[in-house]
Amino acid sequence: MHEETRMAQEREQEASKALNEQENFLRRQDYLSDEELTENLLAGIRREKAIVESWLDSGDCFVLSSAGKVHLPQCSSMRQFMDREAAWAPYLRDLERVRDWSGDTYPSMPVLRTRAQVEDLKAYKTCPMCAPTLDHSDKRQGVRGWTLLKAGSLKAKHFGKTFSLAGGSSIGVLTEISTVETAQGLDFRAEFDGLAAPVTDPMTQVMYRTPRPTH
Ligand SMILES: [Zn+2]
Repeated sequence: MHEETRMAQEREQEASKALNEQENFLRRQDYLSDEELTENLLAGIRREKAIVESWLDSGDCFVLSSAGKVHLPQCSSMRQFMDREAAWAPYLRDLERVRDWSGDTYPSMPVLRTRAQVEDLKAYKTCPMCAPTLDHSDKRQGVRGWTLLKAGSLKAKHFGKTFSLAGGSSIGVLTEISTVETAQGLDFRAEFDGLAAPVTDPMTQVMYRTPRPTH
């Protein structure tokens, strides 16, 4: 298994284990005094913060919303999930809400994903507000058997592959990619041997046949 994926899975298992412990623990809070309960909640918040922070420290990290949108962890629309203190504040103010535990009323943790996990999704949209830089802004299941990407996401690993435009017309093999910084901004070029002029718009959608798994 890919090292990054394995580590992400381990992190996820640890996180969900910690959360289960947290839930079991909270279910036993009925008999505690307000002070003890507050103390325990604060300890729980510290644990959740540590989980979120270990994800953030691990590098490229994104938040998946329930609507399937991908956000940066800093996005203001994800604050209610990322900021565990803010998420729990109403419970700290009203301890009876904690004692009334019904299984689904506690603030949910953010759904954190690595870049590789996001790119593995068959479909996703990026949030227009925080605009994370991923291979797609609106990934849909394209033509069966083809991988669709923006020209700006082409990398050295794509050299030698035969590409088509999203419409289906072949543009030949990718031979060169360059991004040059000019006074006017970034000058992007992707050269294909079937095209007389290079592709200069990094947003142009191109596609190649998805390699069949070899194992
Ligand atoms: Zn966002």
